[in-house]
Amino acid sequence: MNTVDYLLQDENDLHIQAKLDEIIERNRRYTKDGAVATYIPGLRKANRDDLGICIVDKNKRIFTSGVCDKKFTIQSISKVVLLSMALMEHGFDYVHTKVGFEPSDNPFNSIVTIGNNDVKKPSNPMINSGAIAITSLIKGDTYEEKEANMMAYFKKFTANNDLKINYNVYMSERSTGDRNRAMAYLLKSHGFLDGNVDEILDLYFKQCSIEVDVKDLAMIGLNLADQEFINDRGCVISKDVARIVRTVMFLCGMYDGSGEFALKTGLPSKSGVGGGIMTCVSDAVGIGVFGPSLDERGNSVAGMKVLEDLSREFDLSAI
Ligand code: GLN
Repeated sequence: MNTVDYLLQDENDLHIQAKLDEIIERNRRYTKDGAVATYIPGLRKANRDDLGICIVDKNKRIFTSGVCDKKFTIQSISKVVLLSMALMEHGFDYVHTKVGFEPSDNPFNSIVTIGNNDVKKPSNPMINSGAIAITSLIKGDTYEEKEANMMAYFKKFTANNDLKINYNVYMSERSTGDRNRAMAYLLKSHGFLDGNVDEILDLYFKQCSIEVDVKDLAMIGLNLADQEFINDRGCVISKDVARIVRTVMFLCGMYDGSGEFALKTGLPSKSGVGGGIMTCVSDAVGIGVFGPSLDERGNSVAGMKVLEDLSREFDLSAI
């Protein structure tokens, strides 16, 4: 039996739960090696010691361990949902005129590629500049309509109609987002932003400030992993879009730490500075991890360790 099939067998539930508890316990000590994000004041209140995981599979089984009921802001994991939406609504070729699809070894908030006259496109949609360009592709005649379309997509993806924006974090993002503002204006000057810069930035700050828990993240992962699940629910994204998004996550999802993480876990994943990591195992499982203690790149220190152990112990590597 292959290992993904093993994960899906009901009779292995107790063993899987015990393993998860053990992995969370074993890796809790790594929360001490990082720090919570402080550059957005609304994120400072997080508890550095928290660590939790949720796994959902296509048979609708749910496993949780550690701190699982806390809400945190989705931050950069929203970039995956926005990319999926843009690819579904505009197609790959048009999206590619706005962003590249190459990994970057610059930090997530780097302005380098768009600041350079030779390479004007943002490197990829998983860093801030690329995500701001993608945000300009949200359809709608008014700002309100665009926000409603965006929120509807997040609700479908997570199968959670109660998703809300954390207004405290959103205001924090707005008041400290000058670097993102600078990027947006630079993008506009190079023709990579369609529309009103202030509105696009506001939608970007809002998408980062959506509150989720580990189960919401695991559901996003399941949508990307399991085509049958997607089709059952009225096709949020196509099989091809899911494949493109998983590939982009694999190459770029952990910012300038993507290569190292990919080789340690083999899991297409996306992190956010709220402490979340979302990942998936095709075509069966979605995973959400929460650990707000971050390394210098903005990735959850203990969260990455948990995924390393999980991948090794259940042999989940995609390659
Ligand atoms: N809201 C954050 C920002 O724009 C998102 C970054 C992240 O999660 N890495 O800086």
